[in-house]
Amino acid sequence: MNLRPDEISSVIKQEIKNYAAKLDVAEFGTVIQVGDGIARVYGLSKAMSGELLEFQNGVFGMALNLEEDNIGTVLLGPDEGIREGDAVKLTGRVAEVPVGDALIGRVVNALGQPIDQKGPIQTTAFRPIERVAPGVISREEVNVPLQTGVKAIDAMVPIGRGQRELIIGDRQTGKTAICIDTIINQQGKNVNCVYVAIGQKASTVARTVKLLEEFGALDYTTVVAATASETAPLQYIAPYSGCAIGEEWMENGKDVLIVYDDLSKHAVAYRAMSLLLRRPPGREAYPGDVFYLHSRLLERSARLSKEYGGGSITALPIIETQAGDISAYIPTNVISITDGQIYMEAELFNAGIRPAINPGLSVSRVGGSAQIKSMKKIAGPIRMELAQYRELASFAQFGSDLDKDTLDRLKQGERIVEILKQPQYKPLTVEQEVIILYAVTHKYLKDVNVEKALEFEHELLNYMDSRAPEIQKDLRETGDLSPELEEKLKTVIENFKKEVKI
Ligand code: ATP
Ligand code: MG
Repeated sequence: MNLRPDEISSVIKQEIKNYAAKLDVAEFGTVIQVGDGIARVYGLSKAMSGELLEFQNGVFGMALNLEEDNIGTVLLGPDEGIREGDAVKLTGRVAEVPVGDALIGRVVNALGQPIDQKGPIQTTAFRPIERVAPGVISREEVNVPLQTGVKAIDAMVPIGRGQRELIIGDRQTGKTAICIDTIINQQGKNVNCVYVAIGQKASTVARTVKLLEEFGALDYTTVVAATASETAPLQYIAPYSGCAIGEEWMENGKDVLIVYDDLSKHAVAYRAMSLLLRRPPGREAYPGDVFYLHSRLLERSARLSKEYGGGSITALPIIETQAGDISAYIPTNVISITDGQIYMEAELFNAGIRPAINPGLSVSRVGGSAQIKSMKKIAGPIRMELAQYRELASFAQFGSDLDKDTLDRLKQGERIVEILKQPQYKPLTVEQEVIILYAVTHKYLKDVNVEKALEFEHELLNYMDSRAPEIQKDLRETGDLSPELEEKLKTVIENFKKEVKI
């Protein structure tokens, strides 16, 4: 037999090649440095940006800095069990969270794991926490109102489904209160809510969850919590996780409301993480991409057109200012990303005007197209009268003899300010808002004491419920205040004033 060495060697080479292809070789790297929730890993040349890496003790990390000879990784768990020289495995996956209806009524951490002792979350659906926002083609105009139940907002800074409205103000000015009231007001309105708590005390989050439960709002709400005691990376990913949970519903045609409380702490967590990763600090030591941090998050709020599911995500991000400075770095960034802002003022809050909304600095760029017709008709003059009142009031404190017209305007302004006050956890239906705002703008409170204005409101709404419930029904069904309905409303208010003395 004639042996041909070159044939044999080629067969052997082929065999070796096939053998190697059959082996499942995961790529391993080694930890070269660990501490402060950051690990540097050597040797994973194929890692993707944002990919999950698994450490020897089961903790996951996220690859963020892809450098020439090592990878900067943030740890999504405790770093205690990790040592230099430990093996690290690529997973080929990016961070994802469970999504779907199983999350309704649950409290989860930034990774979507339950923290409410109600057992595991029964869902098979997962979504990556980061995703590219819907493009222009898949979007639709924002023109369906999202009723907050807060008179001042629904009248002066109306919010539409799919809009991003910033709530901005100093600490303790009622920012969270507005968002919680808005969530409570979504009862029975077919809106799923997500409340993302970032960097708050665990006790504060627990109180919020309890409140939502008491008002029955947890039946349609998911809470995503990354508290102050958790690591910066978890606080960093929490809003994206919350958004991913909302996106699942949006793409299935549901309307979603998501509250980010708050993005100032989110930016601070990102800054801490970036500095530890040795990314270059920029203005106020924030990394250069801190604008992108919030823009890519808020851009994911949208109202989708029918072909793309038809749902929406309305976002209420919160930003805390220092001493009312809305021109600081992070506030200006987020103001320029959102479709308007509601500015909460400490001075108004302390003067007892609560919610402490400053009507001059608050805007909604979606505006009237997100209001029902009846509200649009009535709310128009309120902003104007308030602005005039403020100007006159600051001027009037110097002079004593004012003409009748000025006095009338001052009186009217005082009553509007009073009627726009509203206690917490008492959202009104839009019909009730229309009725009371109609009464005040048409000067039915002229002869009522300012201190008694809210009592007037309460009594009037009760009277309406018992004597003329058809007015609210008509308003609800038509969404409009037709001349006939207006006549009816006038008569009822006049009768009320005759019968009930306030
Ligand atoms: P922080 O900056 O600490 O997060 P915040 O701006 O979110 O504060 P809240 O916690 O919402 O403010 O409210 C501060 C306090 O004001 C709370 O005790 C709350 O009960 C009270 N408050 C808020 N809104 C109203 C209101 N409309 N009427 C009466 N009290 C209110
Ligand atoms: Mg708050």
